[in-house]
Amino acid sequence: VSELVGAVEAGGTKFRAAVYDRASLELRDEVRIETTTPDATLGAVLEFFQAQPPVAALGIASFGPLIVDAASGDYGSVAATPKPGWTGAKIFARLQAALGVPAEIQTDVEAAAVAEYQRGAGQGQPSLAYVTVGTGIGVGVAIDGVPFRGRDHLELGHIPVRRHPDDTFEGRCPFHGDCLEGLACGPALIDRWETRPSSLPEDHLAWEIEAYYLAQLVRVLAYSFSPDRVLFSGGVGARPHLAAQISQAAIDDLAGYSVSHQDNQDLVQTALLGNDAGLTGAAMLATSLL
Ligand SMILES: [Zn+2]
Repeated sequence: VSELVGAVEAGGTKFRAAVYDRASLELRDEVRIETTTPDATLGAVLEFFQAQPPVAALGIASFGPLIVDAASGDYGSVAATPKPGWTGAKIFARLQAALGVPAEIQTDVEAAAVAEYQRGAGQGQPSLAYVTVGTGIGVGVAIDGVPFRGRDHLELGHIPVRRHPDDTFEGRCPFHGDCLEGLACGPALIDRWETRPSSLPEDHLAWEIEAYYLAQLVRVLAYSFSPDRVLFSGGVGARPHLAAQISQAAIDDLAGYSVSHQDNQDLVQTALLGNDAGLTGAAMLATSLL
C-alpha cells in the first residue's frame, strides 16, 4: 500500500496539487498550475500525479459553487458560476477516474475549517467557522472536524446585510448586488476606495465599514451555529488589525443578546494556517478515506 496521499486545491486563479506522507502529513512535492480551461488545468494536475509514485487516496478542496450531494451524478462538479468555461466542470469525476483511488471532495473553506480544527487556530474548539475574505467571501463550518452541510454547502458569503450609513457603494455581486460579498470582498474595497486594501491605513474608514459588514456575518454564525471560534483568513480577512475590529463590532451587533458570545473577546480570531489551509485540509480528507 502506498505511503502517500494526493491533495488538490482547486482555486479560481490557480490549482495546487501535492503529495503528502500519509502518516505524518508531511508535504513531499507540490505543483502550482494557473487556472485556465478545465481541460488544460485538470490535465496538468494529472500530469503531476502521473510523474509521482502512486497515491493511496485523493482529497480535493475546491472553489464553489460545487455539487457536494454524494447521491448526485454530478457530485464534485462545478455548479453555475460566472467563471468562464467552468460551469459543469467535472473536477472530482475526472481526477478520480484517472487516478482510480478512493477520493472525496469538499469546498476549499470546508477543508480549511477542518485543517484549522486539526492543526491551526481551532484546535480544541469543537464548533468552528472559517471565513475567507479575498476575491470573494466563503464560509465553512466544521463541527468536531466534520463540515456542516445541508443539501448544498453553505453560502453565507451571500447573506443580506444592513448598510453602513456612510457607505454609498452599490455592491458588485453579479447575483445580488449589495449582499455581504458584494459589499465586503477585496474587489469591492478596491472599487469603493480606488486603491489596494493593503495601502489603506488601519484607522481608515474603510476598515470600520468592513468590520461593520463582517460583524453581521459573525452575528448570523453566532445565532445559527454558536461556534466556539470564527476564524478569518484571505487577502483581506487576514489583515492583522481586522479581527479585533470585527470582534468589537460583533459584540456591538449582538447587543447583549447571547448566552456565550455577548462579550466574548475570543470568538473572532485570525486563522493560523494561511494559504496552506485548503491544501492541508485536502490531504487530511485523503487520509480520512484510508
Ligand atoms: Zn451575492
